[in-house]
Amino acid sequence: TVEIKDLHKSFGSLEVLKGIDFTVETGQVVCVIGPSGSGKSTLLRCVNLLEQPTSGRVVVEGIELTDPDVDIDAARRRLGMVFQQFNLFPHLTVVRNIMIAQERVLKRKRAEAERIARENLEKVGLLEKADAYPAQLSGGQQQRVAIARALAMNPTLMLFDEPTSALDPELVGDVLGVMRQLAEDGMTMLVVTHEMAFAREVADRVVFMDQGVIVEDGPPQQVIGDPQHERTREFLRRVL
Ligand code: ATP
Ligand code: MG
Repeated sequence: TVEIKDLHKSFGSLEVLKGIDFTVETGQVVCVIGPSGSGKSTLLRCVNLLEQPTSGRVVVEGIELTDPDVDIDAARRRLGMVFQQFNLFPHLTVVRNIMIAQERVLKRKRAEAERIARENLEKVGLLEKADAYPAQLSGGQQQRVAIARALAMNPTLMLFDEPTSALDPELVGDVLGVMRQLAEDGMTMLVVTHEMAFAREVADRVVFMDQGVIVEDGPPQQVIGDPQHERTREFLRRVL
Protein backbone atom coordinates (compact mmCIF):
# COMPACT_ATOMS: atom_id res chain seq x y z
CA THR A 1 0.00 0.00 0.00
CA VAL A 2 1.20 3.49 -0.87
CA GLU A 3 -0.29 6.40 1.02
CA ILE A 4 0.19 9.99 -0.07
CA LYS A 5 -1.03 12.46 2.50
CA ASP A 6 -1.44 16.21 2.05
CA LEU A 7 1.60 16.38 -0.23
CA HIS A 8 2.82 19.87 -1.10
CA LYS A 9 5.71 20.85 -3.35
CA SER A 10 6.87 24.33 -4.26
CA PHE A 11 9.78 25.44 -6.41
CA GLY A 12 10.55 28.87 -4.97
CA SER A 13 7.30 30.80 -5.14
CA LEU A 14 5.75 28.36 -7.63
CA GLU A 15 3.38 26.02 -5.81
CA VAL A 16 3.20 22.89 -8.00
CA LEU A 17 1.49 20.39 -5.67
CA LYS A 18 -1.20 21.91 -3.45
CA GLY A 19 -2.17 19.10 -1.11
CA ILE A 20 -2.36 15.72 -2.82
CA ASP A 21 -4.07 12.82 -1.04
CA PHE A 22 -4.56 9.32 -2.36
CA THR A 23 -3.79 5.69 -1.71
CA VAL A 24 -2.69 2.87 -3.99
CA GLU A 25 -3.64 -0.48 -2.49
CA THR A 26 -1.32 -3.43 -2.96
CA GLY A 27 -1.94 -4.98 -6.38
CA GLN A 28 -3.79 -1.94 -7.70
CA VAL A 29 -3.00 0.06 -10.81
CA VAL A 30 -3.64 3.79 -10.52
CA CYS A 31 -3.28 5.95 -13.63
CA VAL A 32 -2.66 9.67 -13.26
CA ILE A 33 -3.87 11.86 -16.11
CA GLY A 34 -3.95 15.62 -16.55
CA PRO A 35 -2.76 18.53 -18.66
CA SER A 36 0.88 19.43 -19.21
CA GLY A 37 2.27 21.29 -16.22
CA SER A 38 -0.38 20.01 -13.79
CA GLY A 39 2.30 18.42 -11.57
CA LYS A 40 2.12 14.72 -12.54
CA SER A 41 5.89 14.20 -12.90
CA THR A 42 6.55 16.23 -9.77
CA LEU A 43 4.14 13.98 -7.90
CA LEU A 44 5.97 10.80 -9.01
CA ARG A 45 9.34 12.39 -8.24
CA CYS A 46 8.10 13.24 -4.75
CA VAL A 47 6.86 9.67 -4.23
CA ASN A 48 10.36 8.28 -4.76
CA LEU A 49 12.04 11.35 -3.26
CA LEU A 50 13.89 12.43 -6.36
CA GLU A 51 12.30 15.68 -5.18
CA GLN A 52 11.98 16.58 -1.52
CA PRO A 53 8.33 17.39 -0.78
CA THR A 54 7.75 20.75 0.87
CA SER A 55 5.35 19.08 3.29
CA GLY A 56 3.15 16.02 3.61
CA ARG A 57 3.82 12.33 3.90
CA VAL A 58 4.62 9.42 1.58
CA VAL A 59 4.24 5.99 3.19
CA VAL A 60 5.17 2.83 1.25
CA GLU A 61 4.40 -0.53 2.84
CA GLY A 62 4.33 1.09 6.29
CA ILE A 63 7.65 2.90 5.86
CA GLU A 64 7.37 6.68 5.88
CA LEU A 65 9.78 7.83 3.18
CA THR A 66 9.30 11.44 4.27
CA ASP A 67 10.51 10.64 7.82
CA PRO A 68 13.91 12.37 8.08
CA ASP A 69 15.27 9.41 10.08
CA VAL A 70 14.40 6.78 7.47
CA ASP A 71 17.22 5.14 5.45
CA ILE A 72 16.13 6.66 2.17
CA ASP A 73 18.41 4.60 -0.05
CA ALA A 74 17.11 1.38 1.45
CA ALA A 75 13.51 2.53 1.14
CA ARG A 76 13.94 3.76 -2.43
CA ARG A 77 15.35 0.41 -3.53
CA ARG A 78 11.84 -1.00 -3.29
CA LEU A 79 10.51 1.46 -5.85
CA GLY A 80 10.97 0.78 -9.55
CA MET A 81 10.89 3.80 -11.80
CA VAL A 82 10.47 3.90 -15.58
CA PHE A 83 10.78 7.26 -17.33
CA GLN A 84 10.06 8.57 -20.78
CA GLN A 85 13.81 8.31 -21.46
CA PHE A 86 15.19 4.82 -20.96
CA ASN A 87 18.66 5.83 -19.68
CA LEU A 88 20.39 2.55 -20.55
CA PHE A 89 24.20 2.48 -20.49
CA PRO A 90 25.19 2.48 -24.18
CA HIS A 91 28.52 0.68 -23.61
CA LEU A 92 26.95 -2.27 -21.77
CA THR A 93 24.97 -5.14 -23.24
CA VAL A 94 21.30 -5.50 -22.38
CA VAL A 95 21.93 -8.22 -19.80
CA ARG A 96 24.76 -6.21 -18.19
CA ASN A 97 22.47 -3.17 -18.01
CA ILE A 98 20.05 -5.24 -15.95
CA MET A 99 22.77 -6.76 -13.75
CA ILE A 100 24.66 -3.67 -12.70
CA ALA A 101 22.33 -2.26 -10.03
CA GLN A 102 21.62 -5.75 -8.70
CA GLU A 103 25.35 -6.25 -8.10
CA ARG A 104 26.15 -2.75 -6.86
CA VAL A 105 23.06 -1.96 -4.81
CA LEU A 106 21.66 -5.35 -3.77
CA LYS A 107 25.13 -7.00 -3.63
CA ARG A 108 23.94 -9.99 -5.62
CA LYS A 109 26.61 -12.32 -6.97
CA ARG A 110 27.26 -12.06 -10.67
CA ALA A 111 25.70 -15.44 -11.56
CA GLU A 112 22.55 -14.72 -9.58
CA ALA A 113 22.23 -11.24 -11.06
CA GLU A 114 22.56 -12.71 -14.55
CA ARG A 115 19.95 -15.39 -13.88
CA ILE A 116 17.49 -12.77 -12.57
CA ALA A 117 18.30 -10.46 -15.50
CA ARG A 118 17.49 -13.22 -17.98
CA GLU A 119 14.27 -14.13 -16.15
CA ASN A 120 13.09 -10.55 -16.41
CA LEU A 121 14.17 -10.24 -20.03
CA GLU A 122 12.01 -13.25 -20.75
CA LYS A 123 9.13 -11.56 -18.95
CA VAL A 124 9.35 -8.55 -21.30
CA GLY A 125 9.82 -10.80 -24.35
CA LEU A 126 13.45 -9.91 -25.09
CA LEU A 127 15.55 -12.84 -23.94
CA GLU A 128 17.03 -13.15 -27.44
CA LYS A 129 18.41 -9.59 -27.13
CA ALA A 130 20.38 -10.28 -23.94
CA ASP A 131 23.76 -9.81 -25.58
CA ALA A 132 22.84 -6.92 -27.87
CA TYR A 133 23.76 -3.30 -27.16
CA PRO A 134 21.04 -0.68 -26.56
CA ALA A 135 21.76 1.06 -29.88
CA GLN A 136 20.85 -2.17 -31.67
CA LEU A 137 17.32 -2.11 -30.21
CA SER A 138 14.22 -0.14 -31.14
CA GLY A 139 12.92 2.47 -28.71
CA GLY A 140 10.15 0.13 -27.60
CA GLN A 141 12.64 -2.67 -26.98
CA GLN A 142 14.88 -0.30 -25.00
CA GLN A 143 11.94 0.72 -22.86
CA ARG A 144 11.11 -2.94 -22.20
CA VAL A 145 14.74 -3.44 -21.10
CA ALA A 146 14.30 -0.48 -18.75
CA ILE A 147 11.20 -2.18 -17.32
CA ALA A 148 13.12 -5.46 -16.89
CA ARG A 149 15.92 -3.55 -15.16
CA ALA A 150 13.45 -2.06 -12.68
CA LEU A 151 11.76 -5.43 -12.07
CA ALA A 152 15.09 -7.14 -11.35
CA MET A 153 15.32 -5.05 -8.17
CA ASN A 154 12.15 -6.73 -6.77
CA PRO A 155 10.17 -3.51 -6.36
CA THR A 156 7.03 -3.40 -4.23
CA LEU A 157 5.80 -0.49 -6.35
CA MET A 158 6.44 0.44 -9.97
CA LEU A 159 6.26 4.10 -10.99
CA PHE A 160 5.88 4.93 -14.67
CA ASP A 161 6.13 8.47 -16.05
CA GLU A 162 4.76 8.53 -19.60
CA PRO A 163 6.77 5.45 -20.58
CA THR A 164 5.44 5.42 -24.14
CA SER A 165 5.34 9.09 -25.05
CA ALA A 166 8.82 9.16 -26.64
CA LEU A 167 8.08 6.12 -28.82
CA ASP A 168 7.02 5.85 -32.42
CA PRO A 169 3.33 4.96 -32.50
CA GLU A 170 3.89 1.43 -33.81
CA LEU A 171 6.14 0.64 -30.82
CA VAL A 172 3.74 1.79 -28.10
CA GLY A 173 1.63 -1.36 -28.09
CA ASP A 174 4.44 -3.73 -27.08
CA VAL A 175 5.37 -1.61 -24.07
CA LEU A 176 1.75 -1.23 -22.98
CA GLY A 177 1.37 -5.00 -23.41
CA VAL A 178 4.23 -5.62 -20.98
CA MET A 179 2.69 -3.17 -18.51
CA ARG A 180 -0.68 -4.82 -18.87
CA GLN A 181 0.88 -8.23 -18.13
CA LEU A 182 2.60 -6.79 -15.04
CA ALA A 183 -0.73 -5.47 -13.83
CA GLU A 184 -2.35 -8.87 -14.36
CA ASP A 185 0.49 -10.46 -12.39
CA GLY A 186 -0.50 -8.27 -9.44
CA MET A 187 2.19 -5.56 -9.46
CA THR A 188 1.28 -2.36 -7.65
CA MET A 189 1.62 0.42 -10.21
CA LEU A 190 1.34 4.19 -10.34
CA VAL A 191 1.29 5.24 -13.99
CA VAL A 192 1.31 8.73 -15.48
CA THR A 193 0.02 8.28 -19.01
CA HIS A 194 -1.72 9.91 -21.93
CA GLU A 195 -2.88 6.48 -23.16
CA MET A 196 -6.57 6.70 -22.33
CA ALA A 197 -7.37 3.23 -23.67
CA PHE A 198 -4.75 1.74 -21.36
CA ALA A 199 -6.09 3.72 -18.38
CA ARG A 200 -9.64 2.67 -19.20
CA GLU A 201 -8.83 -1.02 -19.56
CA VAL A 202 -6.05 -1.60 -17.02
CA ALA A 203 -6.44 0.94 -14.22
CA ASP A 204 -8.35 0.16 -11.06
CA ARG A 205 -8.54 3.92 -10.47
CA VAL A 206 -7.88 7.00 -12.53
CA VAL A 207 -6.76 10.24 -10.88
CA PHE A 208 -7.28 13.45 -12.85
CA MET A 209 -4.90 16.24 -11.78
CA ASP A 210 -5.06 19.87 -12.78
CA GLN A 211 -2.99 22.78 -11.45
CA GLY A 212 -1.55 20.81 -8.56
CA VAL A 213 -4.75 19.36 -7.14
CA ILE A 214 -6.69 16.15 -7.68
CA VAL A 215 -9.93 17.09 -9.38
CA GLU A 216 -11.36 13.58 -9.70
CA ASP A 217 -10.39 10.14 -8.42
CA GLY A 218 -12.42 7.06 -9.19
CA PRO A 219 -12.81 4.00 -11.38
CA PRO A 220 -12.09 4.59 -15.08
CA GLN A 221 -15.70 4.12 -16.12
CA GLN A 222 -16.47 7.12 -13.91
CA VAL A 223 -13.50 9.47 -14.39
CA ILE A 224 -13.06 8.79 -18.13
CA GLY A 225 -16.51 7.47 -18.96
CA ASP A 226 -18.68 9.85 -16.94
CA PRO A 227 -16.58 12.71 -15.53
CA GLN A 228 -18.26 14.88 -12.91
CA HIS A 229 -16.16 18.03 -13.31
CA GLU A 230 -16.01 20.45 -16.20
CA ARG A 231 -12.20 20.57 -16.02
CA THR A 232 -12.05 16.80 -16.52
CA ARG A 233 -14.52 16.95 -19.40
CA GLU A 234 -12.53 19.69 -21.10
CA PHE A 235 -9.28 17.72 -20.77
CA LEU A 236 -10.87 14.55 -22.12
CA ARG A 237 -12.34 16.40 -25.08
CA ARG A 238 -8.82 17.39 -26.03
CA VAL A 239 -7.16 13.97 -25.62
CA LEU A 240 -9.83 11.44 -26.64
P1 ATP B 1 3.82 17.13 -18.59
O1 ATP B 1 2.50 16.48 -18.93
O2 ATP B 1 4.18 18.18 -19.58
O3 ATP B 1 4.92 16.14 -18.35
P2 ATP B 1 3.54 17.46 -15.69
O4 ATP B 1 2.12 17.37 -15.26
O5 ATP B 1 4.39 16.26 -15.52
O6 ATP B 1 3.57 17.96 -17.21
P3 ATP B 1 5.49 18.75 -14.02
O7 ATP B 1 6.67 18.34 -14.79
O8 ATP B 1 5.25 18.07 -12.72
O9 ATP B 1 4.17 18.69 -14.91
O10 ATP B 1 5.62 20.31 -13.79
C1 ATP B 1 4.67 21.05 -13.03
C2 ATP B 1 5.15 22.48 -12.88
O11 ATP B 1 6.32 22.50 -12.07
C3 ATP B 1 5.56 23.14 -14.19
O12 ATP B 1 5.12 24.49 -14.13
C4 ATP B 1 7.06 23.06 -14.18
O13 ATP B 1 7.64 24.12 -14.90
C5 ATP B 1 7.39 23.15 -12.70
N1 ATP B 1 8.64 22.45 -12.34
C6 ATP B 1 8.87 21.14 -12.43
N2 ATP B 1 10.10 20.81 -12.00
C7 ATP B 1 10.68 21.98 -11.63
C8 ATP B 1 11.96 22.34 -11.09
N3 ATP B 1 12.88 21.40 -10.84
N4 ATP B 1 12.19 23.63 -10.84
C9 ATP B 1 11.25 24.57 -11.06
N5 ATP B 1 10.02 24.32 -11.56
C10 ATP B 1 9.73 23.04 -11.84
MG1 MG C 1 5.51 15.08 -16.83
